[in-house]
Amino acid sequence: MSERRNFIKKSAIGALGAFLLPKSTQAIMNTNNNTHSAKEFPMVISTWRHGLAANDAAMNSLLNGDKAIDSVEIGVRVPEADPESNSVGYGGWPDRDGHVTLDACIMDETGNCGSVSFLQNIKHPISVARKVMDETPHVMLSGKGALQFALEKGFEEENLLTKKGEKRWRKWLETSEYKPIINVENHDTIGLLALDKKGDISGACTTSGLAWKLHGRVGDSPVIGAGMFVDNEIGGCCATGVGEAVLKTLGSFLIVELMRQGATPQEACEEGIARIVKNQNYKDMQIGYLAINKKGEHGSYAVHPGFNYALHQNGENKLIDSNSFIKK
Ligand code: ASP
Repeated sequence: MSERRNFIKKSAIGALGAFLLPKSTQAIMNTNNNTHSAKEFPMVISTWRHGLAANDAAMNSLLNGDKAIDSVEIGVRVPEADPESNSVGYGGWPDRDGHVTLDACIMDETGNCGSVSFLQNIKHPISVARKVMDETPHVMLSGKGALQFALEKGFEEENLLTKKGEKRWRKWLETSEYKPIINVENHDTIGLLALDKKGDISGACTTSGLAWKLHGRVGDSPVIGAGMFVDNEIGGCCATGVGEAVLKTLGSFLIVELMRQGATPQEACEEGIARIVKNQNYKDMQIGYLAINKKGEHGSYAVHPGFNYALHQNGENKLIDSNSFIKK
């Protein structure tokens, strides 16, 4: 790539963002080598190691001919039910008062979406979010109302605080120091995006949020456009990490919009992280973004090293380390 082209690309995406760029510049930006490219559908991509098992379930469903929206729900239910996933569903680490509180959202290829926040005692918040989407005129239900809705729809109440979670929380109470440890206490949300055989995109995101958060705290994960966003003409994005930073920049919506203006998924994720590090005290927090476009290309970027994601594409399901703003 020539010096001039490099300059145009860097200044366009870094300083100004890609908005309002002429089509010719957008074409140059599309030549970025960082974007991992593959043409085959279906594909599934999701955050962190537990994404491997989630991807398997989602891919099976896609290969059986399910739509992306069904596969994303099926996929994220796997970590929701896994007591070893300590930031999702059953076995999630609790808030400061010892309560496991859950946030989730789901979005389909038509722009329909549903979400629940501050939901307690229901193992599969993603399926409640799906029902909000399918069976109500609303997008978001929260707290007691979300629980009441779930019970009316036949979900069962159960204690989600495992013995391990309770032990960990009691240990935390000894100091009660709230300083989430990067890549340990502030991650594990599962965000999952799928492209089905038809090439339609959907996404799901579900979490118990930051460990030891204030009771009542809601993060980015149930907020459409923050924790996850899909536009079937363009692509999709999901987020993990300190939700406050993602909420302040409406990260997933931003990244999809940057792709609309011509950025590759990789460039868009890097710009999403750039918006965070520009104004926020990023040194002590991790945030990771994952994005895909309609061609089945993907990108990822994080603040710190240590973010990884699972990609199921072309018959292979593998864990990949993301690049990050702070280098190793
Ligand atoms: N994004 C989630 C939240 O802030 C946390 C995470 O990714 O684990 O609630």
